[in-house]
Amino acid sequence: MIIAIDGPAGAGKSTVAKEVARRLKLLYIDTGAMYRALTLKAIFNKIDIKDEEALVAMARDSRIELKETSSSLKIYLDGREVTQQIREPRVTKFVSEISQIASLRRIMVELQRQAVRDNKGAVLEGRDIGTVVFPQADYKFYLDADFKERVRRRFKEFKALEKEISLEEVEQDILKRDYIDSTRQCAPLRKAEDAIYIDTTHMSIEEVVDKILSYINLDVDKLKN
Ligand code: C5P
Repeated sequence: MIIAIDGPAGAGKSTVAKEVARRLKLLYIDTGAMYRALTLKAIFNKIDIKDEEALVAMARDSRIELKETSSSLKIYLDGREVTQQIREPRVTKFVSEISQIASLRRIMVELQRQAVRDNKGAVLEGRDIGTVVFPQADYKFYLDADFKERVRRRFKEFKALEKEISLEEVEQDILKRDYIDSTRQCAPLRKAEDAIYIDTTHMSIEEVVDKILSYINLDVDKLKN
C-alpha cells in the first residue's frame, strides 16, 4: 500500500506520517530529509547554491539512507549520521533553493520509488508525492494549517532542539519556503486533485492520525464485507 502525505512546512506531516506508518506497519519515508541531507552536504562542501551542475553531480555521488529504529528515523549521508544536523536553521534556510533543481529532484524521486519497490509499500511525506512521485498512490492526503499556527509549531520544534532562532526568523523562513516550494517550475507544492484535504489548525496529532486511518479502515472494512 502506498500512502502519500503532502503539504507545507508546519502542517504536521512528519509526526502524523510516522504514526500512520507505525500503525499500519509500513515503511516511513521522509522525503524532506533527503533534500535536507543534500543541502547539508552542499554546505559542507561549500558548493555555491546557484551552481546547478555541481549540485547535481554531488547528488549523484551521494548515499542517502533512512534507517528506522523502534523509536525514530535516522538519516545517514555517505555513511555518517546527520539526523540532527539536517534540522539546523542553516540547512532549512537553503533547502528550498536546492530542491528547485529538476535533475537533482529526478535522482531523489528515483531513490524514493526504489525504496517503495523494495518494501512493497510505504507512507511517504513531502511536497510532490501525490502529484509526481506516486500519482497512483492508494491514498493521498494534503495537510494544511493556518500560517500562524504553522509558524508556532516550527518555532516550538526549534526550541525543543535548543536552536537560537526568533519567531520572526521562523516566520520569514516559512514564508520564503512556501513561496519557492509552490511557485517552482518542477514539481511545485500543490494538492493533487484526488487528495483528501485536512486542515490541521485546530486538530491534535492523534485526531489527524485517526482521521487518516478512518479513510483507510473504511476501505479495509468494505473489502471484508
Ligand atoms: O518537509 P521538510 O520541511 O523537511 O522539507 C524541507 C524542504 O525540502 C521543503 O521546504 C522543500 O523545499 C523540499 N522538499 C521538496 N520535495 C519534497 C520534500 C521536501 O521539494 N518531496
